[in-house]
Amino acid sequence: MIPYGRQSIEEEDIHAVVEALRSDWLTQGPKLKEFEEKLAAYCGAKYAVAVSNGTTALHVAYLGLGIGEGDEVITTPNTFVATSNMLLVVGATPVFCDIDPKRYNIDVEKIESLITPSTKAISLVHFAGHPVDIDTIERIAKKHNLLVIEDSCQALGATYKNKKIGSCTQSNAAVFSFHPVKSITTGEGGAILTNDKELYEKMMRLRTHGVTKDPELLEEYHGDWYFETCELGYNYRMTDMQAALGISQLKQLDTFIEKRNKQATYYNEQLKDVSNIVLPTVDDTVRSAWHLYVIQVLKEHRKEIFDAMREAGIGVQVHHVPVHIHPLFKKVLGEQKYLVHADEYYSRCFSLPIFPKMTREEQNHVIGTLKHIMETYE
Ligand SMILES: *Cc1c(COP(=O)(O)O)cnc(C)c1O
Repeated sequence: MIPYGRQSIEEEDIHAVVEALRSDWLTQGPKLKEFEEKLAAYCGAKYAVAVSNGTTALHVAYLGLGIGEGDEVITTPNTFVATSNMLLVVGATPVFCDIDPKRYNIDVEKIESLITPSTKAISLVHFAGHPVDIDTIERIAKKHNLLVIEDSCQALGATYKNKKIGSCTQSNAAVFSFHPVKSITTGEGGAILTNDKELYEKMMRLRTHGVTKDPELLEEYHGDWYFETCELGYNYRMTDMQAALGISQLKQLDTFIEKRNKQATYYNEQLKDVSNIVLPTVDDTVRSAWHLYVIQVLKEHRKEIFDAMREAGIGVQVHHVPVHIHPLFKKVLGEQKYLVHADEYYSRCFSLPIFPKMTREEQNHVIGTLKHIMETYE
């Protein structure tokens, strides 16, 4: 089965991990710090906090920004559930904004109508690696005094108006995941980027049990062993083996994104004349990370086409089952009937395989199979 996405691991990656294993530090060591510095530098942000995965990164970002009980956070239903799950975990209420039917990202035109006195933040998602219109989001956030979190788990390596996603110049924090299907991998792993020093320091504490040894923060001092827990924290650390892999992967990130862009262009060229499918497009002002290559077909045929692709050994997948239709969210928020574009999109979409290691032959197999299946519906 050709998967919809997978990691690219080279000998240099394996070597980097083995080297970390032979070092004095398996966790809390120099590789972790180096990875954080290199990641922040790549994105053009001041600070990075590496954590155990993208979900814990979201948790730490929300907690760090003080999002909690009684707060409403405007977000998109077209995302992996973690974006909203972590809002529930901190006690906040996700308020879903419908998606833009062209890009499948949050519809920035609809955000303001959802703002209430309880709205605290916008948690946006650069879906499929396609950057959201951040200029508009920034304008709305400034006008209404809202925080902005970028769930950038699908968008490491993407750029918006020549600025890297994760630069945080127009948001409070950006969150990444290094799961094997994402732009780079550390097995499991995640990170939060920010330019806010205070937020950075708080997130560093949250990652390690809310603990501090900083003399300026200690209420007492008993000796060199002494530390204090000043807020409720967790153990959300990334190991040095993972960080070593992350450093090695970062060196290849631009090549990975280049390959994904080429594959997307090739799909676009080869599939443009196939009837009854809608191909993905991006704005001229962005460079997408092409985490996913999503097409839409007629909803009456989606399941048949999906099943036929799977039968031919092609690991198509649907991204995403919209958050508002999951039983948990129906129970917590009730039926959300106004998300018409999100519902329509969900009934028609599925993702074709796209990942740096996919060969031209594999891609031709995907294209040929899809064309053949689509002939049935002409
Ligand atoms: C992958 C992903 C996550 C979760 O990341 P994990 O590392 O799997 O926990 C969160 N949000 C989005 C948009 C994602 O794509």
